[in-house]
Amino acid sequence: MGSNYGDLRVALIRHLGTLHSDDYPWSLGKSGFGGRGVFATRDIQTDEVIFEDRPIIVGPRAGRDENVTCVVCHDHVDRSEVCPKGCGLPVCITNATCASNESHNPECELLRSWEPLKTKVVSDNILRALTSVRSLLLPPEPLALLNSLQAQTEINRAVAEFGKFPHNQPEVLKQLFNTSAVLNTNAFETKLCIPNVRYCFDANHVMRVQATKQIMCGEEIFTSYIQIFWGTYSRRVHLMATKDFMCNCSRCIDPTEGGTYLSALRCPKDPCQGRLLPLKPLELGSPWACDICSTQLDCKKVSRVQDVLSALIITKLRKGNPRLVLDFLKTCINNIMPGTNQFIVELKLFIIWNVGNDEKYGPGNKLSSFESQAPR
Ligand SMILES: [Zn+2]
Ligand SMILES: [Zn+2]
Ligand SMILES: [Zn+2]
Ligand SMILES: [Zn+2]
Repeated sequence: MGSNYGDLRVALIRHLGTLHSDDYPWSLGKSGFGGRGVFATRDIQTDEVIFEDRPIIVGPRAGRDENVTCVVCHDHVDRSEVCPKGCGLPVCITNATCASNESHNPECELLRSWEPLKTKVVSDNILRALTSVRSLLLPPEPLALLNSLQAQTEINRAVAEFGKFPHNQPEVLKQLFNTSAVLNTNAFETKLCIPNVRYCFDANHVMRVQATKQIMCGEEIFTSYIQIFWGTYSRRVHLMATKDFMCNCSRCIDPTEGGTYLSALRCPKDPCQGRLLPLKPLELGSPWACDICSTQLDCKKVSRVQDVLSALIITKLRKGNPRLVLDFLKTCINNIMPGTNQFIVELKLFIIWNVGNDEKYGPGNKLSSFESQAPR
């Protein structure tokens, strides 16, 4: 396939198949924030599907704080469950369907030919590079589509974990570098903390992008880099560290974040039930004050409280037990944080996600059936 725009368009339409539409409600344009942006070409209603896309490659999540997942079924596995053939990737060895699954063979052979230095334990770096490695095994047409995306880079650490990486084949390295964003949500402008679209994935990995509110003709359409339920301090620090950008959007300016109180902590003065909020949310060093008794806490103390809470919550989530999390929410945490706080919201979402996806709690009111089931 040639590399001109017409060929690319044909390949893209073929790739999308039934997901393609001749009547998208958007077009590309120059973004007011810099670079390209996506703009509504007519009024778009709340919940309207703006587009659907399917991935060229699927790979396991492999963030630094992620649990390890099997590269075949993407279920969580123990770090000791490594492919018996010696590629260094996690595979459910107790599950015969995964251990003998032929879909893993091509990548397994390729990685073994590069001689991984560790084969008895999972290598996080190789796991993180797996989606890119899978690009080397793509047929020509999806490969051409993939190479039309703009390059991103995070692969050197994985290359260092092989004894015989083909450094004499620069095209292999170039392609690995090229492949890090497969579902290209980066086509959207992503800097603001109140996106006007959301996206989700179905069981076939199809991504559906829908409007979260009415978008008027000509308005820019954007998603967000950050976790939407993070409070202002966490969002802005994250954006600064990862995108070199300090957000000053309307949500960041408002101490209550549109009345969600995601950042709020409990007032430390007993028995006040007020909420502590930053006085100047755009200043990272701003003191925080109670919205009832005006008691103030300096930002160092607030960030220490947040660090402790965040560590506590991560420990709870790592255990992966929704019942322990529910008990924790009911007994301990309410004295320290209001129910609106980002950490509480994260724990609640964890329970919803786990119980909602678990058949044994049945249809209907799953939470009450979850709560009533013994043993604890
Ligand atoms: Zn598996
Ligand atoms: Zn293998
Ligand atoms: Zn913002
Ligand atoms: Zn107070």
